Amino acid sequence: MSSRLDESVKYLKGVGPKRAELFEKLGVKTVRDLIYHLPRSYLDFTSPVPIAAAAPETVCIIEAEVVKKDRPAMIRKGMTVYRLLATDGPDDITVTIFNSQYLFDSLKVGEKYLLCGKVTGNLARKEMSSPTVIKSCSEDKIRPNYPLTAGLSQNVVGNCVKNALALALPADVEFLPADIVKKAGLMPEAEALKKVHFPKSREEIPEARKRLAFDELLTLRLGMMTMRERVRSKTTFSMKRPDMEGYFSALPFCLTKAQKRAIEECMSDMEKETPMNRLVLGDVGSGKTAVAAACCYIAAKNGAQSVMMAPTEILARQHFASLKSALEPSGVRVGLLVGSMTKKQKAEVYEACALGEKDVIVGTHAVFQQGAEYKKLGLVITDEQHRFGVAQRSALAKKGKDPHRLVMSATPIPRTLALMIYGELDISVLDELPAGRKKIETYAVTGKMRERAFAYVKKELSAGGQAYIVCPAVEEGDSGLKNVSDYAKELAKGAFSGFRIGVLHGQLPSAEKEKVMQKFKDGEIDVLVCTTVVEVGVDVPNASVMVVENADRFGLSQLHQLRGRVGRGERSSFCILITDNVSEESKKRLRVLSSTSSGFEISEADLELRGPGDFFGSAQHGLPPLKIADLAADRETVRLAQDIAEALFDTGRITLPGSAPLRARVESLFERAEG
Ligand code: ADP
Ligand code: MG
Repeated sequence: MSSRLDESVKYLKGVGPKRAELFEKLGVKTVRDLIYHLPRSYLDFTSPVPIAAAAPETVCIIEAEVVKKDRPAMIRKGMTVYRLLATDGPDDITVTIFNSQYLFDSLKVGEKYLLCGKVTGNLARKEMSSPTVIKSCSEDKIRPNYPLTAGLSQNVVGNCVKNALALALPADVEFLPADIVKKAGLMPEAEALKKVHFPKSREEIPEARKRLAFDELLTLRLGMMTMRERVRSKTTFSMKRPDMEGYFSALPFCLTKAQKRAIEECMSDMEKETPMNRLVLGDVGSGKTAVAAACCYIAAKNGAQSVMMAPTEILARQHFASLKSALEPSGVRVGLLVGSMTKKQKAEVYEACALGEKDVIVGTHAVFQQGAEYKKLGLVITDEQHRFGVAQRSALAKKGKDPHRLVMSATPIPRTLALMIYGELDISVLDELPAGRKKIETYAVTGKMRERAFAYVKKELSAGGQAYIVCPAVEEGDSGLKNVSDYAKELAKGAFSGFRIGVLHGQLPSAEKEKVMQKFKDGEIDVLVCTTVVEVGVDVPNASVMVVENADRFGLSQLHQLRGRVGRGERSSFCILITDNVSEESKKRLRVLSSTSSGFEISEADLELRGPGDFFGSAQHGLPPLKIADLAADRETVRLAQDIAEALFDTGRITLPGSAPLRARVESLFERAEG
């Protein structure tokens, strides 16, 4: 499908070699690139205000006739001021133009224009300087605002885009089969492009945008699916289904339906000749570890080793304890490998791994540091995977020969979003909490209630409980907030004098962090004053109360993860969110937490209220950036694109000749992301 659109933009009318270089700075190389150089916003000249109503110090659009043009005045070298007087009948306005003789000359006395600019002066004598001007009779009253670079003006870019669009025949730009365009209720590509660049009315924009957002989401999703197929190479560890009873009977509880389903999904992946590549997405406390343990059991019964990697030593130790008690009764040998072990201890474990004398190794990064070799690594599990960099994950994957891969994430993001972020993985969702889990009663209060909240916490402490007090991490010079250590000191002297107080924050050396956490776990600390470092899945069943200071500083999903630290034991649990932000928005957000305990619902609300930035910040690695689609605002379109991507893939239609233009587009998207 070669057309003029794939030529260098250099040959386009109005461009030439010099401008082509500038366009290249904007990522525009070909004519096709230019037609996808989309406006960031629009300047809407369709509803001007009377000059009388144009408020000083605001940007206004007025419609006025030029009455008189003054003689240009050179105010200093290289600075000429052009002035003219315009009127809309009842009122006059002085318009000032700096240096642009071209604009000044184009404005004719007796003609009507629409002007957009900042109004200054006073009510008696209004002025507008450096306005954007179009003729009143212009057909294009909504002007695109393009991303620019020095040397290219809105007008130049706009005109070049117009010239490019003139070359874009519908057949050259449409890359979707007609029936899909119809079924999805989309407008043709050519029409969408025209309307996005040069809409005749505001109303035309959303539908046109939707088509282009759909394009972007569909290609991204298809690209991810293609990538997933590509990483599926042969594995030597196609596993046989073992008798799972040995595992089930060693558990002190019955698995939830969701856990069973996830294990079944893993099982059928591991039976295949291709490596499993699966994400277990589940709320805090949904029991992801038991799913991981089941996979280790399956691997061990097939003579393969498993590695489970956790982001912190304390978590690794915790997983080690759970896996040991779940697996050792059925003869699966579990080992631990963490940084704080002595050289000798590590050497022993390394040797056991190399000889195949350990079936499961739980640890921190130490599991894939130099020296760690595995006799027959068949399964790699990462917990809280977003805390590991891509490089670390792939280093681990290389230790084995295409091992099965399982990742667990406790950020219960909506499925549609998960598919976009983790699109190269298959996903199992744990959407059910084990029976009998107590709800964590959550209250949002203002600082005035702090005394009462603390009195309540003390009552819990006296009854043998433990508490977390969380405050946001403090950046230097952030005066409004208290530093965690200072705050802890203040509490030790004041509200919590007589109780044992521990401090935990990100700046502590990790050995120190582990030590504090361990003491809290062992019940040697009553109150842990901390930042969000405590967020990850640490289990302290005796901790039943959490107080969060400045709660409105956190995302809802983050607060939900935080409060998941309590409510892990027999005691009824409470989470008290303190904030002095009494805005409606803040109240609305925090109310979500009081009203539901579903992490999925909460992340859905988070997405709606704050956008997807939080999820993407840490999770989006090396994905092509979205130019037009917005994962939060365009959720319907995300769903639509996903359904269609799946249909194209599952029916094999994506491989047919009719899908060639679409395939080409997917490929170019990913070439760009890699290049
Ligand atoms: P997460 O999904 O947050 O990692 P964990 O795997 O740490 O959750 O499990 C949280 C707690 O729930 C653990 O103490 C675990 O033993 C317990 N648990 C897991 N599955 C079940 C179940 N089906 N029934 C009862 N308790 C369970
Ligand atoms: Mg966990």
